[in-house]
Amino acid sequence: MRAIRLREMLHTIEREARFTAPMTGRLAFNPRVMEAIEQVPRDAFVPVELLDQAFDNGPLPIGQGQTISQPYIVALMTDLLDPQPTQTILEIGTGSGYQAAILSQLVQQVYSLEIIPSLAARAAELLSRLGYDNIEVRTGDGHSGWIEHAPYDGIIITAAATHLPQALLDQLKPGGRLIIPVGMPYMSQELLLVEKDLAGKLHTRDILGVAFVPMTGGANERKSNH
Ligand code: SAH
Repeated sequence: MRAIRLREMLHTIEREARFTAPMTGRLAFNPRVMEAIEQVPRDAFVPVELLDQAFDNGPLPIGQGQTISQPYIVALMTDLLDPQPTQTILEIGTGSGYQAAILSQLVQQVYSLEIIPSLAARAAELLSRLGYDNIEVRTGDGHSGWIEHAPYDGIIITAAATHLPQALLDQLKPGGRLIIPVGMPYMSQELLLVEKDLAGKLHTRDILGVAFVPMTGGANERKSNH
């Protein structure tokens, strides 16, 4: 039963990738990304009372008013990041830890920041219990990034920001990619792909409309010039 549900989830992601291809420019996701999605047990990251929905293509509540993202969106954002085996990635919004686990299969090292301490602690414990040993989770406000390990080959923000946080743009390597949903809280947002070229110039592309929980915090943020 589990294997069938997982297979259905993968097919749904592939179908949705084809539907949204006119907007995303991607008819199919990288096979490495799909393989990572196949390998990471989403059912370990959802609350037990929602186990029967673990392989549905929808977001699910994980407590504290937060959600584990829709599998198709996880696949799309991971694919847009174009992860490579030697890379170091920063995630903002650990939540359940699911997106971090997917990335850990695809890159060398994942750093993930979560603003709610209890979620950070739970995700860190789960990820280590499942044997993901290249993910470090810390409690903190993603608006300031994680300076100790910067710069990053890629940065993925899994909560909706009102703007592009300057610290995150600064902590992105030249040639790197940043994926972020931007828009007003609780309204629909645009998923943006920001590429920093080798000269340090930013190029931003709108990918498609999405709906994420808001990125909170930001009180101590340094003012941005963007
Ligand atoms: N990537 C997660 C889904 C995240 S939901 C997963 O795979 O399950 C968004 C998460 O971002 C929530 O857990 C929320 O608490 C967190 N968040 C919101 N604002 C944040 C901020 N400023 N810094 C870090 N985390 C933040």
